[in-house]
Amino acid sequence: MKATLQLPTGVHRRYSALTREWILVSAQRTARPWQGQVEEVPAETRPSYDPGCYLCPGNPRASGEHNPQYHETFVFDNDFAALLPNAPGVDQATSVQSPLLVHHPERGVCRVICFSPRHDLTLAELDVPDIRRVIDVWVQQYVELGVLPFISYVQIFENKGEMMGASNPHPHGQIWANETVPSEVLKEDEAQRDYLSESGRCLLCDYLALESELRERVVLENDDFVALVPFWAVWPFETMVLSKRHLPSLAHLREEEKTALADALKRLTVRYDNLFRVSFPYSMGFHQQPTDGEPHPGWHLHAHFYPPLLRSATVRKFLVGYEMLAQAQRDLTAEVAAARLREMSDVHHKQAHLGESSGGEA
Ligand SMILES: [Zn+2]
Ligand SMILES: [Zn+2]
Ligand SMILES: [Zn+2]
Repeated sequence: MKATLQLPTGVHRRYSALTREWILVSAQRTARPWQGQVEEVPAETRPSYDPGCYLCPGNPRASGEHNPQYHETFVFDNDFAALLPNAPGVDQATSVQSPLLVHHPERGVCRVICFSPRHDLTLAELDVPDIRRVIDVWVQQYVELGVLPFISYVQIFENKGEMMGASNPHPHGQIWANETVPSEVLKEDEAQRDYLSESGRCLLCDYLALESELRERVVLENDDFVALVPFWAVWPFETMVLSKRHLPSLAHLREEEKTALADALKRLTVRYDNLFRVSFPYSMGFHQQPTDGEPHPGWHLHAHFYPPLLRSATVRKFLVGYEMLAQAQRDLTAEVAAARLREMSDVHHKQAHLGESSGGEA
């Protein structure tokens, strides 16, 4: 009888025996709607409501459901989720077994968060109280999904702009919460755990103390948060946003820290937009303590921003050839990138056109 490999028909992870990392496979996610490419209207002239947008208030989604007439934020289960609460396995007894073909079913939940009912306002264009509402939703979702027994990690992120694969121009973020801790998070988990056990201190608390003293890579700060270009940055204008206080997750934020985070995100994204006078594309997301029930004393809450642009609104960096095959490489140094972002105004260039002045700083 011919040997067969039985693979799950649902979501599963496959192990790469060569790189020792896991890959998430969501074969059911085929008929995803794509509104990214059809959007010809530049962000500058985007309407505040688009009758054809499946994220705008009151509009129908691919599932046939209608969005409520929401006034602040709106969260729903992704209609084309990469992860689902049920992931059927396979009959291992009848399948080929090999350490080179390892796979496991993977359960999870995928949600979408509309930042605002406004089709035309990005994080950079929302006011601090409105960004604060988005942060409240992130906190709530981290807690709500994290307590589910089959969720070990809650990944909160935003892909902004067609260049970063956003499937709809309506400003929104996503949450993918899954059964196992994903590869990138595992790497940081191990580094933070090792640093703690070797030095007795938190890696990112120590790193932040160093950067705050050197100041060369710090972009901006307020009472509770610092945004900086990390020493080891890969993307040209990559940044990290770190809490000044040692705290493992969004759920540990005090009320004033949530507002301070909103302020830091506002000022950082405004500077990004001002840099090349374009609605700056990026992928951003939070890294925080896994929700697998294990203690993670070394975890320090932070966000990463990975923007692709290099020299202008259209010239981007590609991670290709040498980067794919060998290692990350960059020309623009982290120090120069930080200096460029430091020089930018905290006043959004669109608002500046309207004659507003105060609030900027060198
Ligand atoms: Zn919309
Ligand atoms: Zn810390
Ligand atoms: Zn991280």
